Amino acid sequence: MALCPECEAAIDVEDDEVEEGQTLDCPECGAELEVVSTNPVELNTIADEGDEEAEDEW
Ligand SMILES: [Zn+2]
Repeated sequence: MALCPECEAAIDVEDDEVEEGQTLDCPECGAELEVVSTNPVELNTIADEGDEEAEDEW
């Protein structure tokens, strides 16, 4: 079990079912999450890189 860093929903992942670097979607808020640690499972939101820069150029 891990918590979504975005909405703090409990996400049902077991530490032996995921690998570091694996990505998954939060079922509650839809955020794209990356597994940064597996014991215990810790999740990070994957930043949408590029979007802000693209706006900047305009
Ligand atoms: Zn979430």
